[in-house]
Amino acid sequence: MRLVLLGPPGAGKGTQAERLSEGHKIARLSTGDMLRAAVSAGTPIGMKAKDIMARGELVSDPVVIAIIADRIKQPDAARGFILDGFPRTVAQAEALERLLAQRGLKLDAVVEIKVDESILINRIETRIAQMQARGEPVRADDKPEVLKQRLGAYRAQTAPLIDYYGKKGVLRTVDGMPPIDQVSVAIGRILTAAPRLSSPRRKPAARKAPRKPSRKAARKVAPKGRKSASKAGGVRRKARKGVRPARKAAAKGKARKTKRKQARRAGRRG
Ligand code: ADP
Repeated sequence: MRLVLLGPPGAGKGTQAERLSEGHKIARLSTGDMLRAAVSAGTPIGMKAKDIMARGELVSDPVVIAIIADRIKQPDAARGFILDGFPRTVAQAEALERLLAQRGLKLDAVVEIKVDESILINRIETRIAQMQARGEPVRADDKPEVLKQRLGAYRAQTAPLIDYYGKKGVLRTVDGMPPIDQVSVAIGRILTAAPRLSSPRRKPAARKAPRKPSRKAARKVAPKGRKSASKAGGVRRKARKGVRPARKAAAKGKARKTKRKQARRAGRRG
């Protein structure tokens, strides 16, 4: 299964991606996590991305496309993957399509998690509080002023993907407002209903030994005018089958009549 999760920051993409990854045993590919790892490791990409991310802007297309191109080649992505935070622009979506096409692959579905923007600030504040309570470092871009910028980037650069994937017929939308479990159930339903996802794609079946020709086919092949042994046998079997119930029914009817006669006679006597 190859899936994209779309939605504004705070919509719950990360949480749902994590659950799907565990449930379907496929890789979760989060460009945000990869970039944050690059920032902490101080790699050249990380150094380029650090300030852009802290401002809530998008890292350049070539950088993230190169990261994803490399990532989907890894063995753990062979069974499928969930993309969380990628693509974020139409150019990224087009690049993804090309990368998949090169390997004869396609996306199975794009799930948009739809939420009211008014609750996003609240959600991010809750996330900050939870991370602080767990003693985890808070993300540099999880601040109300940066969130506004991230939302702006989503509206301007990522929301057009809803139309883009809608036209391709792969877009499915879930309400991201209910509690996490309910959203997971809704996504699960979507995935079961998606024709390409309901049955995992199987390898083409290995060649089987040639099948015995069906009776119909055998009849076609058998020379006219002469019944094959099997056909003659079939006819005899059919005849027996047809006769037996008829005889049984007649015998039953006779028995019933005799019983009634005996009863009448007994009545006259008594
Ligand atoms: P969220 O979805 O909560 O905004 P992410 O963890 O997905 O957070 O992304 C954090 C930041 O990483 C983004 O604001 C952006 O700067 C950068 N980033 C992540 N993915 C991409 C991408 N596909 N294209 C450009 N920038 C990205």
